[in-house]
Amino acid sequence: MLTTKYLLIGNSAGGIAAAEAIREADSAGSVTIVTDEPYPAYSRPLISKYLSQERELDTMLFRPADFYAANNIQLLAGKKAIELDLKEHKLGLENGERISWQRLLIASGGTPIVPEINGLDNRGVFSFTTLDDAKAIDEFLTYGSSAVVIGGGLIGISVTETLVKRGISVSVVEMKDRILNTILDETGSAIATEAVKKAGVRSIVNQTVAEIKGENLVSGVTLDNEESIPCSLVVVAIGVVPRVDLVQGAGIEVNRGIVVDRTMATSYPDVYACGDAVEAYDFTLDTNRAIPIWPSAYIGGRVAGFNMAGVSKEYGGGTALNSLTYFGLNIVSAGIVVPPDDGYEALSVANGEIYKKLLLKDDVIVGMICVGDIDKAGILYSLMREKTDVGEFKYKLLEDDFGLVSLPQELWQERLGAPPLVGVVATALPPEEEVEDYSGE
Ligand SMILES: Cc1cc2nc3c(=O)[nH]c(=O)nc-3n(C[C@H](O)[C@H](O)[C@H](O)COP(=O)(O)OP(=O)(O)OC[C@H]3O[C@@H](n4cnc5c(N)ncnc54)[C@H](O)[C@@H]3O)c2cc1C
Repeated sequence: MLTTKYLLIGNSAGGIAAAEAIREADSAGSVTIVTDEPYPAYSRPLISKYLSQERELDTMLFRPADFYAANNIQLLAGKKAIELDLKEHKLGLENGERISWQRLLIASGGTPIVPEINGLDNRGVFSFTTLDDAKAIDEFLTYGSSAVVIGGGLIGISVTETLVKRGISVSVVEMKDRILNTILDETGSAIATEAVKKAGVRSIVNQTVAEIKGENLVSGVTLDNEESIPCSLVVVAIGVVPRVDLVQGAGIEVNRGIVVDRTMATSYPDVYACGDAVEAYDFTLDTNRAIPIWPSAYIGGRVAGFNMAGVSKEYGGGTALNSLTYFGLNIVSAGIVVPPDDGYEALSVANGEIYKKLLLKDDVIVGMICVGDIDKAGILYSLMREKTDVGEFKYKLLEDDFGLVSLPQELWQERLGAPPLVGVVATALPPEEEVEDYSGE
């Protein structure tokens, strides 16, 4: 049986961040990472660039190829963990190996939501959350030139753009009344819909796929309204839920995701968790919830790693923060984008494809949308992150010439610091943390 001091399940943002923090605090303790993917850690958001043939695995790596050897970390890749015995501190792998550990991290990420639809077992139906998914779709593209993407959210629009780049004609089917509805309000979604339409994509809203048709091979879908759409490929991209199968019934508190405190400790001693698998603190909503984004996984992983190695750290909290470019349209969105009640003040400017909106609660920014013009998104997000009272200067925030110097002097000097912010993802990190760029650029 393999014995290790630190065992990390998951070899992505959360697992790697924890491994690095452990190594900073403990250069000698043995570290083992288990993953059921057969690759070194890669940037998951870049799987769309793999499918669009803009990247290969070697330019998607999250850390250099010698990362594991250089840090004396044992990587067990392509091995699935299937049995967790918390009392005995043991993990069983699918191949029969067993590992004994002193401290455990569960950074098992998310698993794609797959609704019950007739015809899912046809060849040509895919998810889009792993490099293997991207590879499988890539191999299948020779079978035809049209696709239906189920889900008009972040992953759905990402794979849609990629398929369009590969010359595939795509219809997106969204159950709600607009695409990107979790990160944009109606005005923002309308601009995004226009951009998608210009690229030749049909977006169908207020509909679901009732059936996937085909005999062994996908031939089309039927919508709830009985419309038939012929296609050779279906991508199910409805979203992800925390991957908690391994810990269900093992003795750890789990709601939708694994419950953790601000040190990223679970309810079971010596067991930590982070990333898409957990419900972590959201500073906007002042509650714990699943926020499946890379920066949260990375920061949570570092906090977990330090605590596992005996260095006390607390997770400052994250929020839904997305910075992306789809069909040439730059979008940054964070926090609450549609007010749940009348207790919020909305400030907005709109001009063609440019739309900016802030949601304020008691003069504190709790949500923001920037579409088309994201230049000041970093500063706005910092104000939101710092819970700055913007009451005195709120009407300046969306002006074209707004910048750090528009803020009261003590704010840009003391709270934001003199240097301009490098990027909105970077601003998600607490000041003492290094800036991480998941894009691989
Ligand atoms: C197409 C796509 C685009 C995205 N774009 C963005 C973006 O633009 N910005 C952003 O912030 N986020 C984006 N995300 C989300 C981001 O990738 C995730 O939030 C992040 O990867 C979560 O990291 P994680 O470490 O929690 O888990 P994951 O990256 O999901 O990794 C989980 C790891 O656990 C392993 N694992 C799980 N269970 C087991 C088991 N039983 N045995 C062995 N190994 C196991 C898996 O193999 C994997 O290595 C995107 C995601 C996708 C799919």
